[in-house]
Amino acid sequence: MKRFFKFLGLLILVIVVGLLIWFFSNLRDRNPGYNADLEIMNENSSYLYAGFAAVPITPEVPDRWTDTDGDAKYNPKDGDTFTDGNGNGKFDPVWIAGFSNSRAANGIHDDLWARTMIIDDGKTRLAIVVLDAIGFMNDDIIDVRSRIPDDAGVTYTIISSTHTHEGPDLLGMWGKTPFKSGVNKEYMDYVKDQVAKSVLTAVKMMRPVKLVISEDLNGAASLVKDTRKPEVFDSGLRLIRAIDKDNGETLGALISWADHPETLWSRNLLITSDFPHYVREGVEKGIFNSDSLVKPGIGGVALYINGAIGGLMTTHPSLPVKDLFSDQEFKEPTFEKAEAQGKQLAFLVLNSLENPVEEIEVAGISLIVRTISLPIKNPLFKLGTMLGVFNRGTRGWMKMRSELSVFTIGPLSFATLPGEVYPEIINGGIEAPDGNDFGIEPVEVPSVREMMPGKYKFIFGLANDEIGYIIPKSQWDAKAPYTYDANDSPYGEENSLGPETASILHKNLKEMLAELNKSQ
Ligand SMILES: [Zn+2]
Repeated sequence: MKRFFKFLGLLILVIVVGLLIWFFSNLRDRNPGYNADLEIMNENSSYLYAGFAAVPITPEVPDRWTDTDGDAKYNPKDGDTFTDGNGNGKFDPVWIAGFSNSRAANGIHDDLWARTMIIDDGKTRLAIVVLDAIGFMNDDIIDVRSRIPDDAGVTYTIISSTHTHEGPDLLGMWGKTPFKSGVNKEYMDYVKDQVAKSVLTAVKMMRPVKLVISEDLNGAASLVKDTRKPEVFDSGLRLIRAIDKDNGETLGALISWADHPETLWSRNLLITSDFPHYVREGVEKGIFNSDSLVKPGIGGVALYINGAIGGLMTTHPSLPVKDLFSDQEFKEPTFEKAEAQGKQLAFLVLNSLENPVEEIEVAGISLIVRTISLPIKNPLFKLGTMLGVFNRGTRGWMKMRSELSVFTIGPLSFATLPGEVYPEIINGGIEAPDGNDFGIEPVEVPSVREMMPGKYKFIFGLANDEIGYIIPKSQWDAKAPYTYDANDSPYGEENSLGPETASILHKNLKEMLAELNKSQ
């Protein structure tokens, strides 16, 4: 008996030590000593160059998961019993990220992309990459940067995700269960190689350009809903079109707006980039009413980049979207609805591009980048990091490495944030409603756009990381009594790192923008 207890004690000790080793190996810094910090102040203006590329990152959805005859939908909740036609095979589907666990892809609707815009002032070369992905974590960004050869001459690479809720999991949260990563390692590796390829291709395509700027700050407001109070949006369309100076051809365009690409909602099982697909198609190839071309496209490569989508910007199933050519309205989440939304947006973009507000041929690029540490306060995120559901290391005890950047190109200014920022932090309008957990007044003031230099101010969200929602501290509401007389806590806090995240980001941006303003 004594020997048995001795054995049992030893066994428990071995298990505990094993678990601790596993936890700590998941927490280890994947990139010790890595720092992206940069400060480039260019007071000289030079001719600008730009290059574009679109490289697919569509996953392979194995045939046996494809809904070939349109009726037999595989339901992963039935368990692991799904096999191939011969009664055997591995359960290895593409897990769709967003909404809930266990969403196995049944097929491909449209290609996913890594789209790149290079902008260069002869001294600084920026690569702006947009992925059709739910998000992409900072450690993976660092890995991608190491795959871009030095002779591409890229000073700084920004990788933003559109946050489509209809593509493969690249974060880990949406596997079969909440405790199992939904990331397929081979697919992740493929995406990283394709991003590097996209950047290299865009560098090779560089040409002397004229940048044509336009804005439509109100036209797209009806296409997005705010499902959490206060109602503040970032629904302005901000556009950059790059035209080859020698032959007048459009090389590409950057379309900046802010909305969750989740118009197809939670039951779609086909891989798609959601409404951004139709926006890009419309802008590049033109807008068609059935087969007839109603508005010609501009050609080139269109990038759709999301801004402040937190708090919470969505084309919810309760929000109807009108067809561009008829009175038909779409409410239910369908591809028809995503298409109607995308065409509406593309139409606004093309109209706006016809009335540019600025043309830029010479400018200098000033750039400030900071690697930062953010405390992981959310217990579920702590657990996810420890269990390796999130394959990202920590930088110090329960702190993650993330990144901010600000830059200017002549009269254009840009701020990149690592997650889903609430629009009130960007545009103003933070409230301190009764019932807020800390009983405090707004902290993240003045608004980011107020602090930004320049005339045309672009926000890139989910850039160089996805850390979840970035919520004003005075609106943080996880405990009763709840804000805005609600009976329950609002949605957002459970997918946020913690209540200090916004103020840390804001403080850093304030310092960086003050510095950047000096260069103007
Ligand atoms: Zn989101």
